[in-house]
Amino acid sequence: MITKEEIEKKITKYPILEYAFFDTSELSFDANVRTICGNKCPQYGKSWSCPPAVGTLDECKARCTKYKNAFIFSTISEVNDIYNMDEMLSARDEHIQIVNKINNNIFNKYEDVLILTAESCSICQNCSYPSELCKYPEKMYPCIESQTILVTEICENHKISFFNGSNTVTWFCLILYS
Ligand code: SF4
Repeated sequence: MITKEEIEKKITKYPILEYAFFDTSELSFDANVRTICGNKCPQYGKSWSCPPAVGTLDECKARCTKYKNAFIFSTISEVNDIYNMDEMLSARDEHIQIVNKINNNIFNKYEDVLILTAESCSICQNCSYPSELCKYPEKMYPCIESQTILVTEICENHKISFFNGSNTVTWFCLILYS
């Protein structure tokens, strides 16, 4: 198993703002997160990376807690207009590229690792949900909140900044491994 120290050494190559390690027993799963997804998120019911496609609360909890270790990290993107969707999507792509590199170069020894990231998957221009199976299940990262996990709570517990300025987007990635 890759050690915490090895991960810490390897991630220095990447533009990570903050990170923390913790045990997955610390994760809390909150049904209210699913309610917020259903009521507020335009991607609800439109992507394999989001609810309800990711499964029930119990299924999400079982999926995440089968791993022992959690590694969370943040990256930031400066944007001119935080409400400009094109700018936000391009900024998210930069975050996903960092996640891909960390996945391929650090967690590549793990056949079974769960990587959760920010927002809905955007690999395909039009998600195949629900008419066809996911086109790239091996590349697709479910949204952290889709698993009913509160990122804000992890940030509070581990002194990671959730907000880094008005025109700065803070992105998170949560990697679960054993
Ligand atoms: S890889 Fe394509 S089909 Fe799968 S969740 Fe992402 S956008 Fe949807």
